[in-house]
Amino acid sequence: MSAAIQLIEDTLTHSLQSRLDALRQTGRLRRLRTVGHPQRPQITLDGQPVVDCCSNDYLGLSAHPRLIAASREALEQYGTGSGGSRLIGGTLDLHIALEDTLARFKGTEAALVFNSGYQANISLLSGLVERHDWVFADKYNHASLVDGAILSRAKVVRYPHLDMGFLENALKKAPLGSTKWIVTDTIFSMDGDAAPLQTLYNLARQYNAWLILDEAHATGIFGDRHRSGLWETTGIGPSERVIQMGTFSKALGGFGAYVAGSRQVVQAMLQFCRGFIYSTALPPAVIAANHAAVLEVMDSPNHTARLWTNIRYFESKAREALPEGTLAFIQSPIVPVILGNPEITMHSAQQLLDSGYYVQGIRPPTVPEGTSRLRITLSANHNQAQIDGLISVLQAILG
Ligand SMILES: *Cc1c(COP(=O)(O)O)cnc(C)c1O
Repeated sequence: MSAAIQLIEDTLTHSLQSRLDALRQTGRLRRLRTVGHPQRPQITLDGQPVVDCCSNDYLGLSAHPRLIAASREALEQYGTGSGGSRLIGGTLDLHIALEDTLARFKGTEAALVFNSGYQANISLLSGLVERHDWVFADKYNHASLVDGAILSRAKVVRYPHLDMGFLENALKKAPLGSTKWIVTDTIFSMDGDAAPLQTLYNLARQYNAWLILDEAHATGIFGDRHRSGLWETTGIGPSERVIQMGTFSKALGGFGAYVAGSRQVVQAMLQFCRGFIYSTALPPAVIAANHAAVLEVMDSPNHTARLWTNIRYFESKAREALPEGTLAFIQSPIVPVILGNPEITMHSAQQLLDSGYYVQGIRPPTVPEGTSRLRITLSANHNQAQIDGLISVLQAILG
């Protein structure tokens, strides 16, 4: 290799290395941990047996016999791959059957499956939102919604978390006649709190805006009839202006995502969403498991009921045991225990792990400076002894 080329290569790797070193020095370097024997919530983490308190498998459905059987049957009948993108030979009858069930689940005219939640959000926003439109997005929205808004090249206003006054003012100021999109998580992934959907809907109507809802952490968890997400609890029903996105990857125990809305919206996504058009369709075994999960959640309220029993049990015990101010009002299976300082947070997470509880420590840039936290997620499959154990270790660490 010539000296000149070697020099250029050294410069390249040097700049990457200095970025990595900067993360390491501030204790922010992320790393992978290996889960083995996942009989959730009992798992091994890097070989050590622990209770999993950070999975998104809220209902424990990823190990449900109905999902496994459906997945296995599809695998044997259809093989491992879907064969193409959805528009070029990859749309199996399994995809259509799932989309029909999704529309029934969500009470919408139609629904479309995407390959992941991340991909659904970047495709949806970049596909439907045009350059001269205005996007109004909650500051705490998931990264995929942030990235989708950037890709759309629209004007983006990020309003302070849940600040409806700020949002209304911003909507008022947008140019008359511009197309507006309000975009929000329904349950926020790092705080577990809920967006005020009724107010958002009223604002969307008053200011003639679309409303895009990300139900990733709410699907399967909220709603008395179908448990289809937080939108169901508003009782408003389907609306032309509301687009509901959600994932199969969390409470539904599978993989992939959906967008539900009017026939017109689904027709538009087929034409404009590049992440849908230019990517191979999800494979049969995944689609069949997703379908079985939706049917299971619709048929049987008991998974969701067990989860809520655990959430309320955790809350009543933890409120007595933990220091004042560390627990907010718990609105979902996501429970942030706010400690503030990132080093203390990561140290506490390590102490929990050493005591047999896998709880993720979350710090900037994932959450704002000064709000580092332990993020606990509860599952329908935790038993009371596991919840009691977790709380007593938390109490010993934070007490
Ligand atoms: C997890 C998540 C996503 C991404 O979904 P994947 O299927 O994991 O890609 C999108 N939005 C929110 C709010 C999420 O929590």
